[in-house]
Amino acid sequence: MKIETVLAQIFSEIDRAEKLHPDWPTDPIHQAAVVTEEAGELLQASLNRDEQKGTKRQMIIEATHTAATAIRFLKNIEESENHE
Ligand SMILES: [Mg+2]
Repeated sequence: MKIETVLAQIFSEIDRAEKLHPDWPTDPIHQAAVVTEEAGELLQASLNRDEQKGTKRQMIIEATHTAATAIRFLKNIEESENHE
């Protein structure tokens, strides 16, 4: 997949997700949990694909969700938080 396609899919997913779920958690643990949930879905989709029970398309969807949530995590980091 071309990088332009990958990034377009991720930006589209961020836009969709921000409209569908505008409230992003305010604490880092719950923010990270959202990213981790999507990463878990990516792993499940990959396992399903490996066992001929899933599709490449489903892996792509979950990888896009994972990237989009990681970017939302970064977008929402408070500037006032301590940077160590
Ligand atoms: Mg997902």
